[in-house]
Amino acid sequence: MNYITEIKKLKEEKNAVILAHCYQNIEVDEVADFVGDSLYLSQMAAKTDADIIVFAGVYFMAQTAKILNPAKKVILPNINAGCDMADMINLQQLREFKSKHPNIPTVCYINSTAEVKAECDICCTSSNAVKIVKSLNAPEVLFLPDKNLGRWVEKQLGNVKVITYNGYCPIHDQFEPSGIEKTKSQHPKALVLAHPECPESFVDLADYVGSTTGIMNFVKNSNEKQFIIATEKGVLDRLKRDYPSKEFFDINATPSICQSMKLNTITDIYNALKTEQPEIQVNKEIADKAIKCINRMLEVSQ
Ligand code: SF4
Repeated sequence: MNYITEIKKLKEEKNAVILAHCYQNIEVDEVADFVGDSLYLSQMAAKTDADIIVFAGVYFMAQTAKILNPAKKVILPNINAGCDMADMINLQQLREFKSKHPNIPTVCYINSTAEVKAECDICCTSSNAVKIVKSLNAPEVLFLPDKNLGRWVEKQLGNVKVITYNGYCPIHDQFEPSGIEKTKSQHPKALVLAHPECPESFVDLADYVGSTTGIMNFVKNSNEKQFIIATEKGVLDRLKRDYPSKEFFDINATPSICQSMKLNTITDIYNALKTEQPEIQVNKEIADKAIKCINRMLEVSQ
């Protein structure tokens, strides 16, 4: 069976849309209607008029899509696709963190569970984190779960104390300054483009720091020809495909892969569309609270 053809047929028959994160296996793009980062995909999930949303991403993304568009059937092709960073803070840990720092606005990265979002003031993605924190006009903010993104936001703003929770992305947190020195010694003209989930000591040495979309736009608009990419391999794969006249290098000898993101295979997507499972549900009480946190972000991001 040609799964790609069958998926396209099923999408038509069932009025389904496939949203795919840039960290997915690149072949997923062949069936996806929208490919992008968390912010873009949230915006697409909020406004789609499809009956079914197949979210080729990880659990919190599908959960966010369901919260944003509760009347739709939201399906995560592989139910085991989770996010290690999102799992680093649960409701109890959030409450303890907040109780240590009372009366300070709380910003949660979109990489968090619905329960956590439900008790935060506003959500952010790596594309809009600086704008979101700035919009609060507060001298101090709590930021979770990602300590690295929080540190970076604090540096960009300069006048806001960002109190970070001790979470991180295991994929991005592994990048070390020595990796830049080594890769630069092999490709001295290449610019280093890094995601703000990388550690502070690493992003301090990068030529550009930005979200997945930021990195892709940087390459698109740059006259330079060589780039060292410090983020998940899916971005590197798409850049190589989209800009064949430019050269891209991984920061480490071993590619940086989020195994969880790669769990959604083409076969999983086919099965998910066929059976309309596994469907994501969010408790209504939690969803009603979490939507405020997410919508506030979307309003500021417009
Ligand atoms: S790359 Fe990191 S933050 Fe993104 S889904 Fe994987 S573990 Fe979570």
